Amino acid sequence: MSATMHYERELPVIDAGDVLVVGGGPGGIAAAIASARNGARTTLVERFGYLGGNLTAGLVGPCMTSYSLDGETQLIKGIFEEMVNRMESLGGAEHPRNFPAGSPEAGFISYGHARVTPFDPETAKFVALDMVREAGVQLRLHTFVADAIVEDGAVTGVVAASKSGLEALKAQITVDCSADADVAARAGAAFEKGRDEDGLLQPMTLFFRVKNVNNAVVEEYVHSHTDDFRPFESLVMQAREAGEFPIPRKGIGMYRTGEDGVWRINTTRLHRLDGTSVEDLTQGEIDGREQVKALLTFFRKRLPGFENVELLDTASMVGVRETRRIVGEYQLKLDDLATAREFDDVIALCGYPVDIHSPTDDSGGTDGKLATANIYQIPYRSLVPRDLNGILVAGRSLSATHEAQAAVRVMPPVFAMGQAAGTAAALAIEYGSEPRAVPVKQLQEMMVRQGVYLGDKYEKTPAGSHR
Ligand SMILES: Cc1cc2nc3c(=O)[nH]c(=O)nc-3n(C[C@H](O)[C@H](O)[C@H](O)COP(=O)(O)OP(=O)(O)OC[C@H]3O[C@@H](n4cnc5c(N)ncnc54)[C@H](O)[C@@H]3O)c2cc1C
Repeated sequence: MSATMHYERELPVIDAGDVLVVGGGPGGIAAAIASARNGARTTLVERFGYLGGNLTAGLVGPCMTSYSLDGETQLIKGIFEEMVNRMESLGGAEHPRNFPAGSPEAGFISYGHARVTPFDPETAKFVALDMVREAGVQLRLHTFVADAIVEDGAVTGVVAASKSGLEALKAQITVDCSADADVAARAGAAFEKGRDEDGLLQPMTLFFRVKNVNNAVVEEYVHSHTDDFRPFESLVMQAREAGEFPIPRKGIGMYRTGEDGVWRINTTRLHRLDGTSVEDLTQGEIDGREQVKALLTFFRKRLPGFENVELLDTASMVGVRETRRIVGEYQLKLDDLATAREFDDVIALCGYPVDIHSPTDDSGGTDGKLATANIYQIPYRSLVPRDLNGILVAGRSLSATHEAQAAVRVMPPVFAMGQAAGTAAALAIEYGSEPRAVPVKQLQEMMVRQGVYLGDKYEKTPAGSHR
């Protein structure tokens, strides 16, 4: 064990209102907006100077499907769709209805890739900020949450570090959207990590974007090489044999954007790293950048349509697919997704399949090996830590197995979980109850009235029956 020391100081206490949302990614944006719109005084804390998390800082995109697996039924609406529509009105996104499976915007991937949402990350930053501010959320940017404050078994706030120094931010309910369950873990909540057999996590990926790609040449090549499971697979294999492809990937993960010649590249792969270790994150940034350099050389030398490619930008943070998953009141399992289990406390419907990038080799992705239903459900109890009060956890660190998390971790389901958690936090404030005790029927009614789709049997009730 490394050396330790005792450290103690008086902290200024900041009133963060009724609900404190930690992390301004897809989960936190939706949670903060939903909480504030439902009447709770809400503060959103984010470590970067802008909102979006992987949506912006991670350069992750497109948003994976918000539809059923077959692409027929739109499932995720609410705040997610509001944001898409607003981005679209600014020319910074296109509605998913326009993108069938296998489209260049979906990386030419068919299985699970119908109805993706391409968008521009800078537009996402503007729109997220506008929507959060319009809802009346108090923002605290450039603020990293380093610890949890726990009193009588309930989280009552956090310790945050910023240019203003260390501060205690106090609120009645905290919604942990840090993606790593930072607050819940520091507060002592139980969590799991990695796959069952060896605890290994999905690999990290440093996204980057390139410009000057000849779209027509790329699309012609990919469509005429249908034996390649992923784009350019045979060229990747040739380069690997020549010692020119030092990346554990079988093909090129590449997604056409709304700008001519600009593609997002999801191809670096960084194994055996843990996103809750600062040493591993540092290593991921270093190795990720080396892989970007190697890929650019490979692209220019070997890929049709990429002869004049240039780097547009790299992500501001290495992308982390999986870290802590809380032990919640209900753990979502692969079987629930496969059998379309119905939950009385359903808070989201999803269709994206299991997407596990191998923790050790070049295989994986949405290969359909672990089947899921056309439409499956997420229950509210998966956002409620089993043994801790005053807190909800929304986003990729929900209570789920490694396999189930690998399906619901993508951005549209995370927006949906955030909206549920924010609405539930506001409801808990209204009743003075613990999040685990909120009346779920009322929660569902509120969400449906606010644009969420939970299935045809959840019909809209007249406005005004609540709030
Ligand atoms: C490489 C990769 C590829 C992916 N591809 C896709 C894709 O193509 N489409 C798709 O839809 N999804 C994709 N995903 C999944 C998706 O991007 C994430 O799972 C999703 O963004 C999770 O949302 P979140 O809100 O839980 O977390 P995040 O997006 O990670 O947001 C968390 C936010 O919290 C902030 N934060 C974290 N800790 C603290 C702290 N202690 N204090 C203050 N702030 C903090 C972060 O800065 C960040 O803004 C991909 C993910 C990765 C990593």
